[in-house]
Amino acid sequence: MLTKTIELTKEERANFDEYLKKIGVTRYDDSRTIPEPWVKVDATQFFEWLQTYSPQYTEFRSVKRFTDDYPYTTSMHIYWFYKNGYAVHFDYRTRELLTWKLGCDHKMKEITQKEAKSQGLSHWGMHCHVYKCTVCGFVESFDSSG
Ligand SMILES: [Zn+2]
Repeated sequence: MLTKTIELTKEERANFDEYLKKIGVTRYDDSRTIPEPWVKVDATQFFEWLQTYSPQYTEFRSVKRFTDDYPYTTSMHIYWFYKNGYAVHFDYRTRELLTWKLGCDHKMKEITQKEAKSQGLSHWGMHCHVYKCTVCGFVESFDSSG
């Protein structure tokens, strides 16, 4: 999908806030802090996501020191994919690409059709696989028939 960089409308911002909640972001405030929770990951993890998915939202921010292992103000682009965000920073000093995964570090577990039904979740049967995060409750499903 072709997209352009624009400010969100009030309604889109409300949808974004809902999305943040859904992926387990517990803190998202001014542009000088990194959204929480976050965990440092290898940059290849971000590129694996980018290979398959397009981000739903992107943003740029300049974040005050937030971790002892990288004690600088850090400019970062954030790519918000359907189940996590990735904050990316290129360090000109070390030529290193630094990446942080944002939101819940999901622990996905497949649930049965019966379990899905009892939780009010859609489950279409044999070829449908529904996974739910045991930490934050994020749900995703796949069709294995095709
Ligand atoms: Zn989760």
